[in-house]
Amino acid sequence: MSDSRPPSASPVGDAVRRGYAAYGRRAEAWMKGYAERGGQVHCAAGCFGCCNMPIRVSLAEALVTAEALNPEEAARVEAHARRVIENARTAPDEETYVERHRFQVGYCPLLDPASGGCSKYGARPTRCRDTFSALPARYCQAGAWEGMTRREREAYRREVARTPGTDGELHFIAPLEHLSEPVWEAAAKAMRTHWGVEAWGDFWVLTTLTQNRTFMQAVIRGDARSAWRVAKAAGLAHNAVLELTGGEPSNRRTA
Ligand code: SF4
Ligand code: SF4
Repeated sequence: MSDSRPPSASPVGDAVRRGYAAYGRRAEAWMKGYAERGGQVHCAAGCFGCCNMPIRVSLAEALVTAEALNPEEAARVEAHARRVIENARTAPDEETYVERHRFQVGYCPLLDPASGGCSKYGARPTRCRDTFSALPARYCQAGAWEGMTRREREAYRREVARTPGTDGELHFIAPLEHLSEPVWEAAAKAMRTHWGVEAWGDFWVLTTLTQNRTFMQAVIRGDARSAWRVAKAAGLAHNAVLELTGGEPSNRRTA
């Protein structure tokens, strides 16, 4: 469906990049203190068990990722987006949607299978930046919880409850997620200011939509309804994976 490259040097993308840089500094400082208090972050290069989770992003973040893709990578992202849409159309509930995403839609096409690393590390979205585990990576694997016995689940709960940095229920490091909130806020503000429309949804669907010139033109002129119609015609609109809010048809917005 590709008919254009995304707008380059967009102020919306620039706002996100500044947010990523600031988050990186905040997260590094927090992790230093965490290590001094005896905390452990289990994430490491080549660890990718979380890369088959659904990922929610803003269109602003998707623009940044899209700018880093070559046509072959963009095609793989689009193929993945179409599997996401099919899952959204057919999953009877959210739990099934997430389970199918992890087991059937599968790993992110930007994962480098040879190294287990992210091939677009510098352009990965916020959720990929702020997900850290306070327990070993086996707990991040799809089906980990479902595969535990009752006793193992109780042991997991006890372990999480006594591990600093968690929210007491899951093994992910909660403060590192909270520290990324300014990135979401910066993305929302930039979209509202420059487009008059906020777009949020699935990472691969939105990254694919940035390549659609007609969709982006509608967004940039603040016309959420037209943008939705274009996404629908492209087979990439579904309430579960695309949210467009605000904006009236207008010609006053610029990229
Ligand atoms: S969140 Fe889990 S799977 Fe992802 S990098 Fe960290 S330890 Fe590995
Ligand atoms: S963008 Fe990178 S870190 Fe994020 S899910 Fe894809 S491969 Fe993993």
